[in-house]
Amino acid sequence: MLTRLRSIVQEVNQEPDLSVALNNLVCHVKDAMNTECCSVYLANYETRHLILRATDGLSPDSIGRVNIGFSEGLIGYVGQREEPINIPSAQTHPRFKQYPEVKEEKYNAFLGVPIIHQRRVLGVIAVQQKVSRVFDENEEAFVVTLAVQLASVLAHAETRSLLQLEAAQKKAFGTQQIRCVPGSPGIAIGFAYVAHPVADFNSVSLRKVYDCEAQIRRFYQAVVQTRKEFKDMALKLVDQLPDDALGIFDVYQQMLGSASLGVDVEEQVRKGWCAISALKIVIEKLVGQFEAMNDEYIRERSTDIKDLGHRVLSHLLQNEVSLKQMPDKAILFAEEVTASMLAEIPRVQLQGVVSVKGSNNSHAAIMARAMGVPAVMGLDDIPLLQLEGEKIIVDGYTGYLLIAPPKDVTDEYQALVDEERELEKELLQQDHLPGVTIDGVSVSLMLNAGLGTSYEFVQSSANDGIGLYRTEYLFMIKQTFPSEQEQLELYREVLSKRKDQPVVMRTLDIGGDKALPYFPINEENPFLGWRGIRLTLDHPEIFLVQIRAMIGANIGLDNLHIMLPMVCAVDEVDESIRLINQAYFEIRDETPEYEVKKPRIGIMIEVPSMIYLIDDLVGKIDFCSVGSNDLTQYLLAVDRNNARVSSLYDYFHPAVLRALKEIIDKTGRCEIPTSICGELAGDPGGAILLFAMGYRQLSMNANNLAKIKWVIRQLTLAECETLLKSCLEASNCATVRAAINAFMEAKGLAGLIRAGR
Ligand code: PEP
Ligand code: MG
Repeated sequence: MLTRLRSIVQEVNQEPDLSVALNNLVCHVKDAMNTECCSVYLANYETRHLILRATDGLSPDSIGRVNIGFSEGLIGYVGQREEPINIPSAQTHPRFKQYPEVKEEKYNAFLGVPIIHQRRVLGVIAVQQKVSRVFDENEEAFVVTLAVQLASVLAHAETRSLLQLEAAQKKAFGTQQIRCVPGSPGIAIGFAYVAHPVADFNSVSLRKVYDCEAQIRRFYQAVVQTRKEFKDMALKLVDQLPDDALGIFDVYQQMLGSASLGVDVEEQVRKGWCAISALKIVIEKLVGQFEAMNDEYIRERSTDIKDLGHRVLSHLLQNEVSLKQMPDKAILFAEEVTASMLAEIPRVQLQGVVSVKGSNNSHAAIMARAMGVPAVMGLDDIPLLQLEGEKIIVDGYTGYLLIAPPKDVTDEYQALVDEERELEKELLQQDHLPGVTIDGVSVSLMLNAGLGTSYEFVQSSANDGIGLYRTEYLFMIKQTFPSEQEQLELYREVLSKRKDQPVVMRTLDIGGDKALPYFPINEENPFLGWRGIRLTLDHPEIFLVQIRAMIGANIGLDNLHIMLPMVCAVDEVDESIRLINQAYFEIRDETPEYEVKKPRIGIMIEVPSMIYLIDDLVGKIDFCSVGSNDLTQYLLAVDRNNARVSSLYDYFHPAVLRALKEIIDKTGRCEIPTSICGELAGDPGGAILLFAMGYRQLSMNANNLAKIKWVIRQLTLAECETLLKSCLEASNCATVRAAINAFMEAKGLAGLIRAGR
């Protein structure tokens, strides 16, 4: 049954035309369950109706014609109750409503199961039978499992259908909106540019084209490249592998011959499929056939076929990349957006960012915010490759992605973009002024840097130093750990840029969602695992080299502050201080000609345990800085990188706010200077609350500095304290957000947290 289920879902997933997919689905389900009728209804939230989209058993003429109100009939009832309804006689049920056009009088047994994606009912799948009976446990389990698996496929089914259409037809189809996770605020309008697509058939959705001969040429070009690749590989391995193992390359070469793979692919291309789709169809069919064999040896050969297919696919994709032009207004799409992808696109062309993986506080989102580029994150099951060149609107405030929007919608969004530009200009005019409230309270506004975006220093005109310099970037772009000298040169450049101001350099914080290509860490729970100070204390050779580079770079400048990430216990602080002292004495002894100063040492408060150990840090550290990104993640037990739980990740959660207040009160009593460098400090509402709590050093990305300074300059401490009081008393995030929004509207600051002025 499981195999049957999997193949039904896979078929729906692969079929680009939604109507065909649903038609196949109802037939297969009816067959598999040996019943007499299966139908699928999909929800239309604009009209609040469930529409019959496919049936095998009801009158085919009623497809698309039967509209059932959300609160009508048994189908509406299933949607309303959000649970299966399994009854022996539909017609005697009090919620039964007759729709004469479907001709269902003959059926009695009824099993309706809702199809739900992210708490939203997408539709209902119903099976019916003449005989009056309750569907048994296994039958119900089958339909429930099917509905759960179909949900994510159907969530984007309309989008897939839209992407099949020619430009003229798209207009009639209407805009497709996809709900994602807001990653970076702002509105962007542009054209999709898909970066480094992964050579994986799962990310390929079938697409029809009209240039059949060109597609065949493309396929054979990729075959020639793959043949050469195998030849080179075989030559390289000739001394290392026995002859029989090398034989696999001959088998691959034969399979690539036009008489085998070529014939089948050509046949599919002539049916209208593009080369990539044709290859997918052929390879998946072959893999399916091999996997179904009884002979184990032959079954295992399916792995070779997949491998072969992926290699040809990767050449097809690479050739496509080298042919494609970067749009003037590019919206970057990628499985997982990386710093180097962002760096590849000139800033003037990069309008927006869409990352399939990740969530609101993943490092990709933090990078986009630092660059001031609107971004959305966490779209599952989107046919990335098919989006290439499509017109796109990214709404980074609400997290919506609009695909192929019509002109009137684009015009509306363009008006919002223009208003935002105006506001930005106004903010920048005040950027040189100090961060002081109307009633004269000063706030130090510092810069978060180190994400590798070259203009992070250029853009930030007036600030009070660097509150967080993330050192991971250099480690991430290299093929090996960077040398001490390499690190020293970079750190000296950074320290020199802020010569007379404090610069807080954080020691290496890899692990979690930041991986090094040459030091892979495979863990079940990376955010709870080997990360930050835990990893570097286990590898003192890496830690010491970095500290030596920092201390060396600080000679003659003396503005270095060293900060330790991910600290969860006092022992870690003691051990780190011991190593920092060791490095300090080494450098001092090695360079007697210079006066080497000891750096100030601090920790990040981002693991909740440290809130309860603040007293124990007195006399050990010189400062601390709150990492609200991780503090939120660890306090709420919500992975900051997981889009599924993104609605739970909220730094306006009352527990987070109360923890932040406790931290500043405790560190104040202990006289430990404390700043905050998480994203909350760069959020206008967050900055107001933090200021009211007593934080006087806020560190944020270059892009938020002008905004936050502007906010601070409009306010008095007393009014911020009143807002804070109501937020600290709130028992949920929504109440906090509502209070902040009302405050921002009343102060004329709402343009900073939503589209428009
Ligand atoms: C934080 O956790 O708040 C922080 C500033 O560090 P990062 O986002 O790099 O983990
Ligand atoms: Mg952190």
